[in-house]
Amino acid sequence: MQTADVVIVGGGIVGSSIAWHLTEAGCRNVLIIERESHQGKGSTGKSMGGVRAQFATALNIQMSLYSIPFYASFEERLGLPSEYRAQGYLFVATKPAHLEYLETNQRLQKSLGLTQVRMLTREQIVEIVPQLRSDDVLGGSFCPTDGFVDPYSVMVGFTTRACEQGATLWRSTEVTGITSDNGQISGLETTRGAVSTRTVVNAAGPWAAQVATLAGVDLPVEPLRRMLIPTEPFEGVSHVIPMVIDMTNGFHFRPESLGFLLAWNDPEETPGYKTDFEPSFIEKVLVRAADRVPCFENLAVNPKRAWAGLYEMSPDHHAIIGPVPEVPGFFCANGFSGHGVMHAPATGKIVADLILQGKTDVVNNVAILSPGRFAKGELLHETAVL
Ligand SMILES: Cc1cc2nc3c(=O)[nH]c(=O)nc-3n(C[C@H](O)[C@H](O)[C@H](O)COP(=O)(O)OP(=O)(O)OC[C@H]3O[C@@H](n4cnc5c(N)ncnc54)[C@H](O)[C@@H]3O)c2cc1C
Repeated sequence: MQTADVVIVGGGIVGSSIAWHLTEAGCRNVLIIERESHQGKGSTGKSMGGVRAQFATALNIQMSLYSIPFYASFEERLGLPSEYRAQGYLFVATKPAHLEYLETNQRLQKSLGLTQVRMLTREQIVEIVPQLRSDDVLGGSFCPTDGFVDPYSVMVGFTTRACEQGATLWRSTEVTGITSDNGQISGLETTRGAVSTRTVVNAAGPWAAQVATLAGVDLPVEPLRRMLIPTEPFEGVSHVIPMVIDMTNGFHFRPESLGFLLAWNDPEETPGYKTDFEPSFIEKVLVRAADRVPCFENLAVNPKRAWAGLYEMSPDHHAIIGPVPEVPGFFCANGFSGHGVMHAPATGKIVADLILQGKTDVVNNVAILSPGRFAKGELLHETAVL
């Protein structure tokens, strides 16, 4: 029978980062099990690739403060590209409450060491994006170290180096059961046979609740469809601008290739495994795009290039990371609520630390992210969710 010190269920960006951080710390007998024939078919391959430290809670800010410098030095550390582009995130405020919110968040961000973040006036915002309609803009918040990465390259980079350092990747293999012995994890059943291990990490993205059920664990992670619209090449707006978020309605966009990538969180979306792109979404987004950037009324969109993927929502929009106390040996790395790419490096480090040392210093109090918080009613509250 195959044996491994640690088995990771799911070979997306989160599972790959955990594998790399484990092998880097000397734990080399690691097995990643991915049910698809290729990595990246889950959320990772559908992501917008945005990375930011502009959050409202200390935990999310600290996870970004590990992850973004990691992405900046990814090539140096791993010898492979992350395609990190420090073009920033620009939150555009149109109500006094937005400004207050951004100022409050910035105080927390700065107190945790995010020195580059700053408030901008309307005039400064227009300097960055001259095409923006600014009559109702009151100001905004900008952090130049926020930006974008290529999630697929990151995932492949982590996996490649993890495998060189001893990890194994099984593709086209589904985990169908998780076994325990006197309550302690003892192994897994897979479509490729049984595996013996004392430690299993759930890195199954939007399918995390199903994998948790195999271990008898009730995990509150729900899939929620998110759709993205890439435009055809467009020269009317610069391609070095940041991710721009219109706080009036949540519409946001960033340069992508020769065009732009447009996104909006449709409040009418309901949980479920829906990954079909809904053509009527294009009109909803283009209306908001042209409202904020009038020349975007000339954008061309090919509906065949648009896509949908799944966010993995937790009840408090924070990741669920750590051991499950009732099932020793079972760890979660789930529920990123749309932030799994930007927080993958921190998650890999935290999970490796917890497995190998039982503690971590990546965040001040990792216990706050524990899977047990929901049963205790100790929910966190993140409002800066896109
Ligand atoms: C449209 C969209 C835009 C997004 N934009 C951003 C963004 O800008 N920034 C950001 O940080 N995040 C963003 N996200 C979220 C981000 O993509 C996810 O949080 C992240 O990819 C989660 O990675 P993961 O490895 O946990 O999950 P996944 O990439 O989904 O990987 C999980 C893997 O587990 C495998 N699996 C499941 N069950 C089993 C099983 N039983 N056996 C074996 N394998 C199994 C699946 O096949 C899958 O490959 C976006 C997501 C979407 C959909």
